[in-house]
Amino acid sequence: MTNATTRPASDYPPGGDAFRHRHLTGIAQLTPWEISYILDAAEQWVDLNRSGAAKHDDALAGLTIINAFFENSTRTLLSFEIAGKRLGADVVNMHAAQSSVKKGETLIDTAMTLNAMRADAIVIRHSASGAVQLIADKVDCPVLNAGDGRHEHPTQALLDALTIRRRLGKVEGLTIAICGDVLHSRVARSNILALTLLGNEVRVVAPPTLIPPAMERMHVATFTDMDEGIAGADVVMMLRLQNERMDGAYLPSAREYHALYGLTPQRLEKAKPDAIVMHPGPMNRGVEIDSSVADDPARSTITEQVEMGVAVRMACLDILTRRTRKVPGWN
Ligand code: ASP
Repeated sequence: MTNATTRPASDYPPGGDAFRHRHLTGIAQLTPWEISYILDAAEQWVDLNRSGAAKHDDALAGLTIINAFFENSTRTLLSFEIAGKRLGADVVNMHAAQSSVKKGETLIDTAMTLNAMRADAIVIRHSASGAVQLIADKVDCPVLNAGDGRHEHPTQALLDALTIRRRLGKVEGLTIAICGDVLHSRVARSNILALTLLGNEVRVVAPPTLIPPAMERMHVATFTDMDEGIAGADVVMMLRLQNERMDGAYLPSAREYHALYGLTPQRLEKAKPDAIVMHPGPMNRGVEIDSSVADDPARSTITEQVEMGVAVRMACLDILTRRTRKVPGWN
């Protein structure tokens, strides 16, 4: 299947000129063109993943991918693992709890160790913003950022863009409200970058304590009133309260937060009648989002986001390893 907004391959420059980067450390490094290139490439993997029993391709056969996760993850780790395996790669997962990091090894030493194992791609999640770039600078293979601190989570933004494009037929000219704990959210940051770059109006909606400074420099409008912030929106993207990143009291209580900022069916009526509701997971049901909204298949895209995650990660792994695999034109 070709999505209505998918460009024909001939629209892009040939080979490696279509995507010049060695790593995927953040959306900030990408052009709108490159984002569309990844989304278009992901469409074929959506089709493969939906194709029934034999969901397999040998594009990455013989390659070794290390998923180095220094921070907990369920869906992102699983999603990268499935993506690598569907493309025929050998996938190895490294959890921080079992690694030398707990024994005090520096990040650079860890990077050198991973490099010496001659992986063909390394996927990294780390609690420190910038850690992924640090490792990318030290290793010989492509590095993919699976979330670094409050900085970026580029594959989440790409899978969100693909979900919006498939649900609403486009991912430009839309009004998108990103609501909740924007301050601690790498998902929000990567989405603001991607969605503004693609030509959407992005708003952030949060209590004053959870709005990062200098939002206007990222070309977004800020709202502290939820009803005003989501009024007329095409997309309402809810975020989790990231309690593990809060080093003080940002909110009076979860109950009060729900009363003022929780997405209820009544509140959702302020958005466009066909507005979609997104959440990157994991959700705090009854805090930032009511179950009746999260589980409404007509509005909620939450399971579709998980599905698109696998396809987008397959596209990223495929594109970033083309030079190693000496795909013609990718020097
Ligand atoms: N799973 C997302 C992340 O890793 C969002 C979240 O944890 O709330 O940033």
